[in-house]
Amino acid sequence: MTFAASRPPGLQKYDLHCHSTASDGMLPPADVVARAHANGVTTLALTDHDGLSGLPEAQAAADALGVSLVPGTEISVEWNDYSVHIVGLRIDPKNPAIVAGLDGIRIGRATRAERIAAELEKVGFKGILARTMTYVGNPELVSRAHFARALVDMGACREVKQVFDRYLTPGKPGFVAHPWPSLAEALGWIRAAGGVAVIAHPGRYRMSNRELGKLFEAFRELGGEAIEVASGSHTPEQVAHFGRQARHYAFMGSQGSDFHAPGESYVDLGGGLPLPEGVVPVWNNW
Ligand code: AMP
Ligand code: MN
Ligand code: MN
Ligand code: MN
Repeated sequence: MTFAASRPPGLQKYDLHCHSTASDGMLPPADVVARAHANGVTTLALTDHDGLSGLPEAQAAADALGVSLVPGTEISVEWNDYSVHIVGLRIDPKNPAIVAGLDGIRIGRATRAERIAAELEKVGFKGILARTMTYVGNPELVSRAHFARALVDMGACREVKQVFDRYLTPGKPGFVAHPWPSLAEALGWIRAAGGVAVIAHPGRYRMSNRELGKLFEAFRELGGEAIEVASGSHTPEQVAHFGRQARHYAFMGSQGSDFHAPGESYVDLGGGLPLPEGVVPVWNNW
């Protein structure tokens, strides 16, 4: 048992969603763990996009600091033409089904990056791919977040958020539609790896409440058990709203900063609002 796990429950602090240089975060896995620990986090899930390669380094750092590390990942999926993120927590990183599934997603990302770069070249960003690659820590995992940082460098916009609105979202010049795996596939991998599936930041999808309700139903039918309620991507109103939704659908609630880099969002590791009263935490039976 780790130090963190043996603390009285009241002193636990959970952050179950964050990124390192193994995907589109800016800090190496060991630095993410150290920063979380410095911020008082006792249980941390590293949930890099579509891969598990940051976990060994994070585990070693967590062992040294007495942080309880939850092996995780954030899987990009497609549902009803929306791109949705599913966090898998407490997965077995050696499970062949999830390893093969995530390998497949990363292969698709390489060609997508070339296509995004070609589109951005057309609107004047010469050399965008080379510039983007200076931000990439894992060549198998080029994300729009890396393009966004490079575009800010090249003077496209002042902030990463604006770059998304102007260049990287559907209908904008640098957006390239991509066939992500289905919700059913992702949940199958998470289940095979013994993990719990969580719908990441439900407030971020541009879906009507009706559509979101359909997503929740489909997710539940496939064995999904939790939604992120307290997310660094949610406003306080959304935290309250998704707390009520979690209770309505009998989902457990998860909590995570979605940290990528110091200063890139308002919420740092371990930051943000707690789960609202009455929501069963996803870590209830851990
Ligand atoms: P990708 O997985 O390559 O499609 O890139 C998605 C990533 O871009 C997300 O994981 C976030 O890190 C980032 N992202 C997406 N939308 C936004 C946004 N509106 N503002 C800032 N970052 C965003
Ligand atoms: Mn990201
Ligand atoms: Mn996400
Ligand atoms: Mn994330």
